[in-house]
Amino acid sequence: MSEVHDVCVIGAGPAGIAVAIRLSELGHKVALVESGFENFNATAQELSNAELTNAKSHALMTDAVVRILGGTSAVWGGRCVPYDPIDFETRDYVEHSGWPITNADLRPYYISACEFLGVGEPSFNVRNCTALETRDLLFSDTFRSGNSLCGNRLERWSQRPRIWSTYRSRVLRNRRIDLISGFTCIGFLHGVLGNPVSHALLLSTLGGETAPRKLNAQQFVIACGGIESTRLILNSINNPQGIKVPVRDIIGRFYMGHPSGKIADIELAGDPSKTIFNFEKDGNVYVRRRITFPSSALDRESLLNIAFWLDNPNIADPQHGNGVLSAAYLAIASPLFGRYLAPAAIRNSILKSGVSDTFAHLKNCLVHPFDTVGFCTQFAYRRYIRRPRLPGFFVHNRTNRYALHFHSEQVPNRNNEIALIHDKDKLGLRRVRITLEWSPQDLDSIVRAHVRLDKLLVEQGIGRLWFRYPMDTVSEAIRQQAVDGFHQIGTLRMGNDPRTSATDCNGRIRGTTNVFVASSAVFPTSGQANPTLTLIAFALKQSEYIHRCLKL
Ligand SMILES: Cc1cc2nc3c(=O)[nH]c(=O)nc-3n(C[C@H](O)[C@H](O)[C@H](O)COP(=O)(O)OP(=O)(O)OC[C@H]3O[C@@H](n4cnc5c(N)ncnc54)[C@H](O)[C@@H]3O)c2cc1C
Repeated sequence: MSEVHDVCVIGAGPAGIAVAIRLSELGHKVALVESGFENFNATAQELSNAELTNAKSHALMTDAVVRILGGTSAVWGGRCVPYDPIDFETRDYVEHSGWPITNADLRPYYISACEFLGVGEPSFNVRNCTALETRDLLFSDTFRSGNSLCGNRLERWSQRPRIWSTYRSRVLRNRRIDLISGFTCIGFLHGVLGNPVSHALLLSTLGGETAPRKLNAQQFVIACGGIESTRLILNSINNPQGIKVPVRDIIGRFYMGHPSGKIADIELAGDPSKTIFNFEKDGNVYVRRRITFPSSALDRESLLNIAFWLDNPNIADPQHGNGVLSAAYLAIASPLFGRYLAPAAIRNSILKSGVSDTFAHLKNCLVHPFDTVGFCTQFAYRRYIRRPRLPGFFVHNRTNRYALHFHSEQVPNRNNEIALIHDKDKLGLRRVRITLEWSPQDLDSIVRAHVRLDKLLVEQGIGRLWFRYPMDTVSEAIRQQAVDGFHQIGTLRMGNDPRTSATDCNGRIRGTTNVFVASSAVFPTSGQANPTLTLIAFALKQSEYIHRCLKL
């Protein structure tokens, strides 16, 4: 590790790999340090364990992050959605909102981010998708998008979601990238506030070393995921030789995710066969429609950003009477191979989602055996053999009634935090306690958004909602359902004011000249979108800034 690198990137998840490749393309010598290995290693994974203040609202770290080459992309869903222009703005009804960069600043980088994640063109509106067969069709027979409601927005699904498999040979064959896997960064050497950091400190992940190895570089990029990047920095600023920051108390605060769940069903008017509820192909990429409110409508109603999509009924409840859903439930619940069919987080949420009765599920499968076998065979082929793989499955409903899934913004709340505790991992880094609670504003906005959606559906003759809970208990139902920890946002927030931000507009840690964070931890607000696409766009923009710094 005596060689001097231009840049040391810590963490080889999607963000770290994107930064390392981009900087190597720009001519720089990069060290890419990764705690994990090619294959899952329990010793490495255990380093990420953390304490949870509320295990109902936050997933276990074993389900939320993966310490392996490629990082958490080993289990992620691959759903890609850009942030909306309103997410970058300061809104008077969202305290601490406002980014130091705009949507326009990121726009050019979404093109390369889409390419990197394998989601094709950066077209997120049905009308712009030239290869989408249903481009000129409405969401449903009666659904017209207008000033108050939109059914044209799309999510795109990565056609090669396992990032390490995709980029493995490109990283290993790249003469400008030195991959150092199986080594964990445990800190940094930083002399004086405002000066550059000189070294990253690394220990073998499997232990056995007495002193850390020092890796020198001109620039450092911390890309360890939202929680682990924050934890590494918190540990470092606690060490007298480590990173010096002007304001400590901001680091680890304002932790956010996305409350999501189902509190209503949606019934659409018109011909059920015309409802576009399923995955569609735009060229070689799967896309799916979502229901959103235009920014002006969110502003008018002081609503947090939110998206909805049609979903299957609860597959665990055999009352749905559908053989396909029952077959899916039995497969996922199977102790033998269920864990290979869905990420642990999704499998757990299905298994705990309510009633289940194996006999009743088997009966469902036998009512229309040919339909069930036909669907399952086709699904297995499209999911596990054909490329791109089908991201999931949705079944058509003859009555035009579907479960309605919501995915909402969470307001930045200082009391949601990642804080060090005394317990240490095997390499001596202090672990963290994670606090994530849904605030009254989060819950109230979700309820009001549903009420508003129902009103608009009825007024415009599109359909209606059926709430699953009495109105005075809906907020509590959301609180019981919503779990995150998969989207790790806000704890190293960017800003223009050094008193209220941990990082500047380029994601550089305040108090250092050469340590950057490539993680959704720098996002000041969470929006309604899953964060990875915007993270990659930001990381690519940041790489170009680091390139300019190296040229100075
Ligand atoms: C079940 C699940 C489903 C998801 N689905 C979606 C989705 O559909 N869409 C979406 O946008 N997002 C989704 N996400 C979130 C997505 O996975 C993350 O946003 C993304 O992986 C973040 O990338 P990253 O590179 O910042 O961090 P990670 O992917 O977590 O990678 C960080 C890397 O850093 C390494 N590391 C950690 N600490 C150290 C250290 N001290 N030294 C060296 N290396 C270190 C880790 O081993 C890891 O390889 C999902 C997450 C989960 C868990």
